[in-house]
Amino acid sequence: MKVPTRLVLKSDKLKEVALAGEVPVFPYFGGGEFRTDGGLFDVRSPIDQNVIARVIRPTREKALGVLERVYSVGRRAIRDTPGEERVDIFEKTADAIEDAREDFVNILMLNAGKTRKAAEGEVQAAIDRLRLAKLDVRRVYGDYVPGDWSRDTIETEAIVKREPLGVVAAILPFNYPLFDAVNKIVYSAIAGNAVIVKPASSDPLPALALSKLLIDSGFPPEAIAVLPLGGRDVGQLISDRRIAAISFTGSTETGLEVIKEAGIKQYVMELGGGDPAIVLEDADVGQAAQKIVTGITSYSGQRCDSVKFVLAEQGVYEDLKSAIVEGLSKVKVGDPREPETDMGPLIDTETADEVISAARDATSKGGMVLFGGEKVNELGPNYIRPTLIEVDASRLPTLYLYNKEVFASIAVIVKVSDLDQAIALSNGRRYGLDAAIFGHDVAKIRRAARLLEVGAVYVNDYPKHGIAYYPFGGMKDSGIGREGIGYTIEYVTAYKSIIYNYRGAGVWDYL
Ligand code: NAP
Repeated sequence: MKVPTRLVLKSDKLKEVALAGEVPVFPYFGGGEFRTDGGLFDVRSPIDQNVIARVIRPTREKALGVLERVYSVGRRAIRDTPGEERVDIFEKTADAIEDAREDFVNILMLNAGKTRKAAEGEVQAAIDRLRLAKLDVRRVYGDYVPGDWSRDTIETEAIVKREPLGVVAAILPFNYPLFDAVNKIVYSAIAGNAVIVKPASSDPLPALALSKLLIDSGFPPEAIAVLPLGGRDVGQLISDRRIAAISFTGSTETGLEVIKEAGIKQYVMELGGGDPAIVLEDADVGQAAQKIVTGITSYSGQRCDSVKFVLAEQGVYEDLKSAIVEGLSKVKVGDPREPETDMGPLIDTETADEVISAARDATSKGGMVLFGGEKVNELGPNYIRPTLIEVDASRLPTLYLYNKEVFASIAVIVKVSDLDQAIALSNGRRYGLDAAIFGHDVAKIRRAARLLEVGAVYVNDYPKHGIAYYPFGGMKDSGIGREGIGYTIEYVTAYKSIIYNYRGAGVWDYL
C-alpha cells in the first residue's frame, strides 16, 4: 500500500517560512520580506500527483515593485557588503542548510521526485558550492595596464577592474531546484550583484526555503528576491532595463524565448543537451557499460548531461550492448522514498508520454527496443522503464531523439565503423553540451577531444557537471557562456577601465 505524499517540515527555521494550512503555504520573498499578497498555486509531487504545498505567486505588477526595491536598495546593499563578509554569509548559509538537511532532502524527494541518494547528493552539492565561494573571489580581480607600450598612451596607466552588473535574473529549471539556486546566487553575489530568482513552477520550494537561510545568515534582504512567477509571466520582468544580466538554465526552446523577450543584456544560458558516449575498441567494456547505465538512469535521465547516445566501435559493440541491457535490467524503478529504488518518476506525465512516442518513432525508422520503451503503470502515470533502442547509424539522424532532447531515461545505441563516424554523428546534432569517450588509445582520445563540438569531454567517465568545480556549458544550441566556480564571474561582471593621465607630471623619466 503506497503511503500518500505529505510534506511535514521539521526544522524550526523552515517552519517559520511556511504558513500552516491543510498543506504548508509558502509566501514569496521580495523587497526584503516574505509576502502573502498574491494568488495561490498548487505544488504537486510527481510521485503520486498529491498537492504537497501551496505557493503564493505575485502579480506582474508586484513583481515589478520588487524589482524596483532590489534595483534601488538591494543593488547598492550587496555591493557595499565587503567581499569577506559575503564569503562569511555563504559559510553561514551552508551551516544553516546542514542544520535543515533532512527538510531539504525531504523536499527534493517529494517535490522533485529524487531518490534519497540523489536528494542527499544535491543538498551536499549546495553546501559544498556555498563553502567554495572563496574560490570564486580571485576571479573578481582585474588588471593593472601600463601605458608605455603605445605612443598614444605613454605616461598614462589604467586599472581595468571587474564591476558587478547590478541585478541578475536567475531563471531555474526543475531538475536542480536547490543547487542551481545556490550556484547562481553565489557567483552573482560574490561579484557584487543583487539576484532575483525565478524558480521552476513545478518545484519552487527549495529556492523559497533557501532565501530564509540566506537572510538569517546576513545576506542583505533587499538584494535577493525569489519570485515564483509562471514562465509566461516573466517577459515583462526580464525585459526591464533594470535587469542587467540573465542566468538561465532550461530547455533550448525556452532559452530562445528568453533572449527574444529580454533583448540586449549579458547572458549565461545553460540549455538543452543529452550527451553521446563513444566507446572505442580497446575500452574496458564492463567499466564503460556500468558508467553508461548510470549516465542513462541517474535522476531518471532528467539531467542535461545525461547519456542519450552510445556510439560503439564494432569490436566491442555486441559485448557492450549486452552489458548495458543487463545493467538496465537491474535498475529498480519505484517510489523514490523507498531505499532500494534507483529510478523514481519523471517530473510530469507529458514527458513520460513523450518517451513512448519517441520510442515508437525510432521503431518506425527501423530501430529495435532492447529494453524498456514502456510505462510502469502500476506505479503511476509518470513512471517509465529505462529505455535503450538500437538503430543503424544511417538512420540515427532521422530520429526524433536525435533532433530533440527527450528529458528522460532513454538512449540509443549505434554501431559505428570508426571514431570519425562517431564524431560526425555527435557533431551532427544541434546540441553540443558534453561527450564521454571510453578507451585507452591516447591518440584517438586526443583526436576526439579536439574535434567534438561540445563544452566538456569526459574521458573514461560519464558526463557529470557536479558542483561546477570544472566549468561546463554548451556549444551550438546548448548554450552561451560557462558555469563553473570562478569562471562565471566573467558573465555577471563588466570590465571598467580607469585611466590615469600623468603626462608632464614627472612620474616617468622617459628618454
Ligand atoms: P524549461 O521548461 O525550459 O523551464 C526552465 C525555466 O524557464 C522555468 O523556470 C520556466 O518556468 C521558465 N520559463 C518558461 N517559459 C519562459 C519564458 N517564456 N520566459 C522566461 N522563462 C520561462 O526547462 P525545465 O524543463 O525546467 O528543465 C529541463 C531543461 O533544462 C532541459 O532541456 C535540460 O537540458 C536543461 N538543463 C540544462 C543544463 C545545462 O547545464 N545546460 C542544466 C540543467 C538543465 P515555469 O516552470 O514556470 O514554466
